Amino acid sequence: MICLGIEGTAHTAGIGIVDDDGHILANVIKMISGESGGIHPREAANHHVQEIPIQLEKALEEAKLTYKDIDLVSFSQGPGLGPCLRTAATAARSLASAIDVPIMGVNHCVAHLEIGRKVTGCSDPTLLYASGGNTQVIAYAGGRYRVFGETLDIGIGNMLDKFGRETGLQFPSGPKIEQLAKEGKRLIDLPYSVKGMDVAFSGILTAALQLRKKDASMEDLCFSLQETCFSMLVEVTERAMAHVEKEEVLLGGGVVQNKRLQEMTRIMAEERGAKMFVPPGRLCIDNGAMIAWTGILMHKSGIRMTIDDTSIRQRFRTDEVDVTWRS
Ligand code: AMP
Ligand code: MG
Repeated sequence: MICLGIEGTAHTAGIGIVDDDGHILANVIKMISGESGGIHPREAANHHVQEIPIQLEKALEEAKLTYKDIDLVSFSQGPGLGPCLRTAATAARSLASAIDVPIMGVNHCVAHLEIGRKVTGCSDPTLLYASGGNTQVIAYAGGRYRVFGETLDIGIGNMLDKFGRETGLQFPSGPKIEQLAKEGKRLIDLPYSVKGMDVAFSGILTAALQLRKKDASMEDLCFSLQETCFSMLVEVTERAMAHVEKEEVLLGGGVVQNKRLQEMTRIMAEERGAKMFVPPGRLCIDNGAMIAWTGILMHKSGIRMTIDDTSIRQRFRTDEVDVTWRS
């Protein structure tokens, strides 16, 4: 069985083609970019309207397949930005009916976890999912992927991008902040906000921006932002691992491409006799391959959807998914 997956929850239009052994036959990714930064939902949706047909052709070319070879169409059903989700869902519905194959709506956060399990070989990890819009610590317990901790306000990537936008960095700002942080020498005190198992980033953002106005250097601020926010994430991840007694930590989401975050997570894991797993970059960021692979897992486990089941779910929670493909 070959599945074509369409990702479009936020800034990225992605098409992936995957077979039922998990071979990734294509994974094309087109992210909206702009000097001003931030995502405007309508603009991102228009971007997807333009890009999805182009990326579809590219993906088929990359996989050396035609529409006739596709047995299943899956798409990111949520969570995400309404206009973006509607665009991806409309594309998926049109394609599935045009080529007359089944359709499958996939939870985006679950897909990050499943592609990580597939390509890194870990089996039962705690996922630290740190992306633009989402920040969650997820682990499997009692037939569901449970959220053990999450952001109470904005995603860590959005926080970094907002900091970048206000200080003149390009979007996405995460990679630029990582570079600047390497030159940082002074750890500036920023509000460390872990509340129970949850984290919050907006206070840190405000504090960092105020310090910037008072002439703190960009290098020191980027360094301090990373050290503070990543410590918060690693603390919550470690506590989730201890709670569910898991010995693997998997990273997912665009922010985990950050080498300092990887280093801090690796140290935490090693100190507790656990192991860290990081998928290749193109499978960490939002991508269609993870949507295709999760579509296959769902279909193989017996899940079937009609067009009526494919309404988008902007606030689709990770733990609403019945994980029928794991025992
Ligand atoms: P995603 O939403 O998962 O596609 O990831 C996009 C987010 O990852 C954006 O907010 C980027 O700023 C962020 N990002 C990408 N690379 C890095 C990096 N090296 N360090 C920190 N954040 C990053
Ligand atoms: Mg994502």
